[in-house]
Amino acid sequence: MVQQREFSERAGWRTHAERVHGRGYRRYSLFVLALGVLGALAQWLTTEVHWSTGQILPALLITAGFLLAEACTTDINVGRIDYTISLTAIPIVIGLYTLPFPIVLAAHLVSGLAIQLGRRAFTHVLYNAGVLCVEIALPFLLFRLLSPVQAVPGWVVVVLAVLASSLASTGLGLGALQTAGAGLGMRQVASLGARTVVVEIVATMLTVAFYGVVRDVAWGWLFVVLLAGAMLAMFFAYGQLFREQRDLGALANISLEVARKRGAGPGPFEADGRQEIDAQWARVGEQIRDQIGADRIVLHLVEDDNEAVRTVIAGRALPEGCQPEEFWREDPLLQLPGTEVRYHRRRDAAEEVAAALRGRGAHEALVVPLRNSARLLGAVEAHDKASRWRGFGRADIRLLRTIANHLSTATDNQRLVARLRHDAYHDPQTGLLNRPGFLAAAGEQVGEGAIVLRADLDVLSGVSDALGQVWGDRMVVTAGQRLRDQLGPEVPLARIEGGQFAVLLDGSRPPEEIAERLRSALTATYTFGKLSVEAEAYLGFAKVLESSGEETDVTTLLQRADVALRTARSSAESVREHSPSMGSVFLRRFQLVTQFRQAVDRGEVLAYYQPKVALGSKQLLGFEALVRWRHPEFGQLSPDEFVPAVEATGLIDVLTAFVSEEAIKRIRAWLDNGLRMGVSVNLAVRSLGDDTLPEQVAEALERHGVPAELLTFEITESGVMANPERALPVLRRLHALGVVLALDDFGTGYSSLAYLRQLPVDEVKIDKSFVQGMGTDLGDLAVVRSIVELGHSLGLHVVAEGVEDDLSREALLGMDCDVAQGYLISRPLPEDKLEPWIRARTLREPGECGAARLTLLS
Ligand code: C2E
Ligand code: CA
Ligand code: CA
Repeated sequence: MVQQREFSERAGWRTHAERVHGRGYRRYSLFVLALGVLGALAQWLTTEVHWSTGQILPALLITAGFLLAEACTTDINVGRIDYTISLTAIPIVIGLYTLPFPIVLAAHLVSGLAIQLGRRAFTHVLYNAGVLCVEIALPFLLFRLLSPVQAVPGWVVVVLAVLASSLASTGLGLGALQTAGAGLGMRQVASLGARTVVVEIVATMLTVAFYGVVRDVAWGWLFVVLLAGAMLAMFFAYGQLFREQRDLGALANISLEVARKRGAGPGPFEADGRQEIDAQWARVGEQIRDQIGADRIVLHLVEDDNEAVRTVIAGRALPEGCQPEEFWREDPLLQLPGTEVRYHRRRDAAEEVAAALRGRGAHEALVVPLRNSARLLGAVEAHDKASRWRGFGRADIRLLRTIANHLSTATDNQRLVARLRHDAYHDPQTGLLNRPGFLAAAGEQVGEGAIVLRADLDVLSGVSDALGQVWGDRMVVTAGQRLRDQLGPEVPLARIEGGQFAVLLDGSRPPEEIAERLRSALTATYTFGKLSVEAEAYLGFAKVLESSGEETDVTTLLQRADVALRTARSSAESVREHSPSMGSVFLRRFQLVTQFRQAVDRGEVLAYYQPKVALGSKQLLGFEALVRWRHPEFGQLSPDEFVPAVEATGLIDVLTAFVSEEAIKRIRAWLDNGLRMGVSVNLAVRSLGDDTLPEQVAEALERHGVPAELLTFEITESGVMANPERALPVLRRLHALGVVLALDDFGTGYSSLAYLRQLPVDEVKIDKSFVQGMGTDLGDLAVVRSIVELGHSLGLHVVAEGVEDDLSREALLGMDCDVAQGYLISRPLPEDKLEPWIRARTLREPGECGAARLTLLS
């Protein structure tokens, strides 16, 4: 007999099936029973039965034959459908030939019901009893009716009889499905019928042939035993092969299903909700249930970090009042050391295990833990084999063990992938998102009204330099926590680098307000034990511009927020919003920086010279070299625009070297012309940190044969103060060479008198803001006067820059200031205008030491 697994399952053939029930089914069962009993009676009462004691042994043998045939079923898989093939046709054929009807019927009934009752499956007893009767009564009836017909050969009669039996039981099964409201479609019925016909015909014909051979051929029984044995072996080998193939397919499916879980989307967050994950696991459970052929699968899954357990059920629901989450830990079924599969049957299990099975409404269960090398990941329970006769077997145990292995590995891999993904999107120190994480998180959310805000903790590099990296890191972690506290857990927050953070806001509240809150959180004192650090923070933010109608992505917003932040920093404001004009400023800065080195090589960068004149004698003392960039696209650029950018990118050495070289060559040219005039070169903060500078300068002076005292370096106080430990040695060495040092922009910086004493300077330059304000502002006048006095008291030369008019010059002269520089005398001049200017504006007279002396004409 062939049962399609699908069919038998749905028809309620399974041992403990509880799915097919209801009044319709009960009535149908009674109908089948009546049909079977009537058929059996009809056959019995219309034939004479010759009883003899010689029939006892054959009766026992055929009962054993039926038992054997039902027990030796094998599952094969053809075209994705599983069939259970049993060899019931064989005892039926033998019975037809050799035994009276009642004995065969009794044998079939006894064996069939015994197997069912042995499994304690009482639900379908009536229905099954009816079917068993029909399966025997029908072939006997047909056999009796057709045998006398001369035209039909004997073997055809047998084949028809057995075929009818099998088709009838299949038909009754279909009827059962129909009454249960789970009928099959026409095509399925047709294909099931066709397959039944083919298998039954083959089995019956073989049995008929064997019967003939046994009866008529000498030693025929041996022939049959050998051939049948060989065929059975082949049959089971095929069954095995099909099963293995099916199992492989199942494993592939299950692994794929697990791998697919959370496969969607590269988001840094667990994007899919709990429900989605549950649904994915339910699919995995369904797959396992299908492959094991169980009534129900219960998956217990230990959640990632906490010890909570997720329970997923596939198949028949658990009985009411059964709380699967509570199974965990104490449940006797789930005490699972090792990795083996356990097989429990209610009827022979220890009392507590049996109770656990009863609680689940299960008669038998396979249970296996899921483990990796380190820990328990969960467990799988399979309840009740969905089969007509059999419970779970060795093949199921083996399959479940393999599935459990695959599940453990797949779950482990999945965790690994989840961790790798987490690591890829998060900053290890703060646990916040990193840049890629921010882009991914924001990528899903940037829309109307989105705002990217960036914050920069200003003291950070200073703290790291002064106290070490560890302290810098601690500050960042604290800062990150403060931001998180302000923003709440939902807002995407990233550490971009160093002390830089980025936040994505949805625009529901004014960004200015949030920025202000974040700023005060960031600038609150950081206390680490006894150490407390004050911090400054700058913030910039950028919105999606509604007016422009442009597509704005996160990267652009991040960039704009950065521009706003830099603008905030350079304007010493704490919070700035991005405006389109900022972008072009920074774009230009970017271009300038990248083009600078080439510009020097191409001669676009030039030194201009502005004269310095002694206030009293009007003697021309020298010039200050001031750099200019004749940019082919932007025109003449002032150093205020490009020097800070060049300095920030470390190209300042190029600039300093270039201007110094020009200055020294200029001095050389004047010396060759009989003039002894100095040139001042401005030194940037960064150049003061370059301890190779003194050697380079010495080398250049040497190369051009220029006395060091004709070269002046102008430095600012803030430049020295930025890093006194580095700057002071450099300055001392320059001074030791004989180079003159001037303190530029004096009055604007620290102006610490104590400090001034320590600096090896020879000259102070009063900042032009005081000089220009002197005429209208008494305060400025006082500053200028005191700088002059202070300078002189320290034995320094005092230079006033920014002298634009005669009044200022007169006032400075009255204060006894030494030198003036400014537009009143001349604007900075390009090199080719120097000679004409000198010739036009000065008088050349012979001076001391053989050098000429230039005096300004008024
Ligand atoms: P600074 O050293 O204070 O230079 C003086 C600035 O004042 C120059 O501006 C000069 O053109 C301007 N100035 C001179 N006389 C007057 C005046 O009477 N009235 C007014 N309103 N301004 C006057 P410039 O050339 O634009 O240079 C700006 C700054 O750029 C300089 O300030 C200096 O700090 C820096 N710089 C210039 N050349 C170099 C250089 O070669 N290297 C470095 N590192 N910095 C340079
Ligand atoms: Ca200067
Ligand atoms: Ca200055």
